[in-house]
Amino acid sequence: STMFSGIEQGPPIEVFALNKQCLEDSCPDKVNLGVGAYRTNEGKPWVLPVVRKTEISIAQNESINHEYLPVCGADAFTKAAATLLLGEKSPALAENRAFGVQSLSGTGALRLGAEFLAQKLSRRVFYFSEPTWENHFKVFTGAGFTTAKTYRYWDPSSRGIDFAGLLEDLSQAPENAVIILHACAHNPTGCDPSQEQWKQIADLMEKKKLFPFFDSAYQGFASGDPNKDAWAVRYFVERGFELFCAQSFAKNFGLYCERVGNLTIVQKDASTTAAVHSQFTLLVRAMYSNPPAFGSRIVSTVLNDPKLREEWMDCIKTMSSRIITMRQKLYDLLKKLNTPGTWEHITQQIGMFSYTGLNEAQVKRLISDFHIYLLSTGRINMCGLNEKNVEYVAKAIHAVVT
Ligand code: PMP
Repeated sequence: STMFSGIEQGPPIEVFALNKQCLEDSCPDKVNLGVGAYRTNEGKPWVLPVVRKTEISIAQNESINHEYLPVCGADAFTKAAATLLLGEKSPALAENRAFGVQSLSGTGALRLGAEFLAQKLSRRVFYFSEPTWENHFKVFTGAGFTTAKTYRYWDPSSRGIDFAGLLEDLSQAPENAVIILHACAHNPTGCDPSQEQWKQIADLMEKKKLFPFFDSAYQGFASGDPNKDAWAVRYFVERGFELFCAQSFAKNFGLYCERVGNLTIVQKDASTTAAVHSQFTLLVRAMYSNPPAFGSRIVSTVLNDPKLREEWMDCIKTMSSRIITMRQKLYDLLKKLNTPGTWEHITQQIGMFSYTGLNEAQVKRLISDFHIYLLSTGRINMCGLNEKNVEYVAKAIHAVVT
């Protein structure tokens, strides 16, 4: 007998199962619109030229060794990451009441923040948008949160935000509840609140004493401008909120597998910085002792060098504009085909994903009849589209909705 015989088979993770299914499909027309990674117009992964150049120079730099990093990460990296988020002129950084902790990409930053909130502040209630990135639930419950609640977000009839529903649900949240907010390019819907709506969310959260935990996985990647994509976070900081923000460098640097992330912590007062930092040190020490160096060296080298940073800005413009072009192409083709329904949301949505509004049965047909792979919710990764396959995809969408 084995002690493992009672272990139940866990459910597959949809996005990775879908990816595998697509990889194994031998149809030459297959299209992968599932997993959230950038693809070039040739359908290939892209190593940003500035990243390639920098990794080579790091590998060749004899003064760089493989000693452990500090528990909370390299200063050059956490400072650069927090500054990218909060801005060069951020008073919170200047006053030493904001700092970064290096993390295992965006997921690790969320987990670390959630661990701190659960263990050090006994927070148990968290809210996420309905729908949200499917991992939020697992990360927060895994860290010890016991009460998972949702706030309304997607309105299928308008194919936009159910803003009245959002406000109503957040107004019911108990004091101290942790509210996960997507900093920009909401995954999966591609719909962000307007600046006016963010102001109303901030008003409500201030009044109800709710804690904002921003998730920033797409800064710069969404609009091509990192300052624009950080607007909501900076606005909350300016309003005087204490908050956490999980940052991922997977998309905006194309460093998916290197696990480069940062948790930015903003406090009201610098007097708590040393104690809070010390508790993060203990949390990290117990979980994985210290973070990996390679990817974070690439990011800090690029962000801290004006010339390399310019090159990076050009790269994020290349990625974001290719996505915007594909949105327009898909929309134009569906219009031309007279596909029933409204499709304006495809061009209005922001970032990597589009929530097409296709239902589960239509998604099933796209997969089985057309070898086009997308999540059952109808979410598509716009980067999977290119000049060669966009017409095929538009015709297939047309076929399954008519
Ligand atoms: N949050 C959101 C909303 C995301 O879409 C992602 C990437 N899929 C992440 C966090 C974290 O990804 P990673 O851990 O790869 O940085």
